[in-house]
Amino acid sequence: MEYRGQLFVLSGPSGAGKSTLRERIRKRVSELWYSVSCTTRAPRAGEIDGEDYSFVSMDAFLAMVKARGFLEWAQVHGHYYGTPREQVVSSLENGRDVLLEIDVQGARQVKIHLPQACFIFVLPPDVATLKKRLRRRGTEDDSGMKIRLDRATREMAEAPWYDYLVINDDLERASEELAAVIRANRCRAAAVLPRVLDLVRPPPLS
Ligand code: ADP
Ligand code: 5GP
Repeated sequence: MEYRGQLFVLSGPSGAGKSTLRERIRKRVSELWYSVSCTTRAPRAGEIDGEDYSFVSMDAFLAMVKARGFLEWAQVHGHYYGTPREQVVSSLENGRDVLLEIDVQGARQVKIHLPQACFIFVLPPDVATLKKRLRRRGTEDDSGMKIRLDRATREMAEAPWYDYLVINDDLERASEELAAVIRANRCRAAAVLPRVLDLVRPPPLS
């Protein structure tokens, strides 16, 4: 299905810096709506329901799966996460660009239904830095750290099928790269042409 708005999908291993980059590009990239996911995991200190995630019970999540209320959903690190379908679809239909921050399993599901979406993968400069950042973030206990690091290698092996790879070493440069990817994607001929058909129509034969 073709939509007027563009869908951007951001993935990467836990600790790569996806949320940090998303926050950093808010002021640089206008008119990009972030889709708040549903999750069955418990809120971390400082996370706000409805802003970081919609925190829901397992029963509520499964009811939404059954009602086909998710555009995609997956089990990640032992919890369930999903993108509520309705608002994303209506935003895209109304010409509003949407950003999803989802794992590789979810991104694959989106790729099947919306192959024209722009897929961006955030990589850490190396595994040692990923470990250091996860530890410094201080949100995971030892078992949470192990689950995330074990999974990181498998997730990063998915990076080659994404459209763009952003290496998050220097935060300022990586933020600018992410913003540049989004801006450039908005200028693709396929995205702009529908708005300028009158201008680019060949002149009539004389
Ligand atoms: P993700 O959303 O991918 O799980 P976060 O955005 O939570 O990752 O980042 C993990 C940790 O690394 C956070 O504490 C964040 O402040 C830090 N961080 C992110 N990017 C950088 C960077 N380029 N340099 C140093 N620290 C960073
Ligand atoms: P965290 O619990 O650290 O916030 O997120 C864990 C992982 O779940 C991250 O890789 C994040 O991108 C992913 N995630 C967050 N929301 C969704 C979602 O709606 N769908 C899918 N498939 N993954 C999600």
